Amino acid sequence: MPHPTPFDATRLRFTLDLPAWAVAELNALPTHLATPEERMAAVLKFAQINFQQGTGGPFAAGVFERDTGRLVVIGVNRVLASNCSSAHAEVMAISLAQQLLGVYDLGGPGLPAHQLVVNWRPCAMCFGAVLWSGVRSLVIAGDGPELEQITGFDEGPVTPVWRTELAQRGIELVEDVLREPALAVYREFAASQQFVYNARQGATAA
Ligand SMILES: [Zn+2]
Repeated sequence: MPHPTPFDATRLRFTLDLPAWAVAELNALPTHLATPEERMAAVLKFAQINFQQGTGGPFAAGVFERDTGRLVVIGVNRVLASNCSSAHAEVMAISLAQQLLGVYDLGGPGLPAHQLVVNWRPCAMCFGAVLWSGVRSLVIAGDGPELEQITGFDEGPVTPVWRTELAQRGIELVEDVLREPALAVYREFAASQQFVYNARQGATAA
């Protein structure tokens, strides 16, 4: 029996992209951002615009050359817009950086050390993505329950020894960079009453 809608190559691929405003914002940024605070400030701006524009959740992540501060790319959450549950900001940023640089390993031979800057500790999925990306440095605005408490997003079962796992793989961790401004973005998102796509889904009904 033939498939009612036959498979063909044009349907067996997918595209993830950044919204038009993000392209314009990237071009408006300096080529280099010297400090972790400057890099996080740029990431927070993208996270804020993303939900304000209705193009995704309040999450952004940037890939930079760790030592020079050269901006490689900043990505934002694109889950709803892309019909793709894995289109988290970290996956977007890492994947776009790899495409822009033409490598699958951001820590490959001959490359400068790359740093991922994220507006909270990566979720269960993105923690794995960070480990496999080749980045040598992870900068986060914070960790802990505040993100889930404020926004309702589920961050999943991140291993309690996540710091040790990073260290064992040679990935340095810088924490609490612009923590309060990051929480302010989440509070603004919560006050906007926008849709939280994975809140309590999969939980057994009471
Ligand atoms: Zn994630």
